[in-house]
Amino acid sequence: MGAPKFIASCSFGKDSLATILLAKEHGEPLDEAVYCEVMFDSNISGEVPEHRDFIYGRAIPALERMGVRVVVLRSQQTYVGLFTGRITRGPKKGMVRSFPLCGKCAVQRDCKVRPIERYRKTLPAGTVQYVGIAQDEQERLLRLEGSKQVSLLDKYNFTEQDAWEFCRKAGLLSPVYAFTDRGGCWFCPNAKREELRHLYDHHPDLWARMLELQAIPGKVTEKFNRTQRFSDIDEAFRLEDSETAPDQAA
Ligand code: SF4
Repeated sequence: MGAPKFIASCSFGKDSLATILLAKEHGEPLDEAVYCEVMFDSNISGEVPEHRDFIYGRAIPALERMGVRVVVLRSQQTYVGLFTGRITRGPKKGMVRSFPLCGKCAVQRDCKVRPIERYRKTLPAGTVQYVGIAQDEQERLLRLEGSKQVSLLDKYNFTEQDAWEFCRKAGLLSPVYAFTDRGGCWFCPNAKREELRHLYDHHPDLWARMLELQAIPGKVTEKFNRTQRFSDIDEAFRLEDSETAPDQAA
């Protein structure tokens, strides 16, 4: 299988990009960056559109100019594929699987972990994986002990804030940080209100796709996240807009 490789897991967030920038600056061995793109359906990315544009328009070309090969992985499975699949066994047999569960996301399992695991099996034994875990994330760092995963942010004493600044100076800070501090799919059940509001305001086509899915009958659950249906969130935003709209009467 050849000599062990050095790979960097990359979501194109600040921590993983800062890791790659640090590797290049300090001459750390690095064979490739591995990115797994979750898809909404076979054509639409699960990345927030601004982040997807940043990845393909700015970040990948910049890494390639630095001599870093970027491997892009995608699962055949998609959010819509999982959503519209039907339960095959048990009391809910025949029902539409619908929204992934908070804390037990099937999209994470099938569209992210599986392709990465499959790729990892093709790598030589002893391959080292750089992971973007900052020096101020001690709990996550402790979990790396005894594994083949290494944090260069820890090695070079980089906090999350340092990673942010390092990427900003390099012109490689994703525009998503303007409205969120977390990465993730635009349909994530863990999305914060600001992220959902961003989607509602700037990507009405994607918003409409979620409302279409919400309208499918016979779903296992009607809830998009722990407490709300997607249509409840839609109604709440409409109400907010109507309350803040300037008085049209005059
Ligand atoms: S970001 Fe959210 S929806 Fe996407 S894989 Fe992770 S938990 Fe699932």
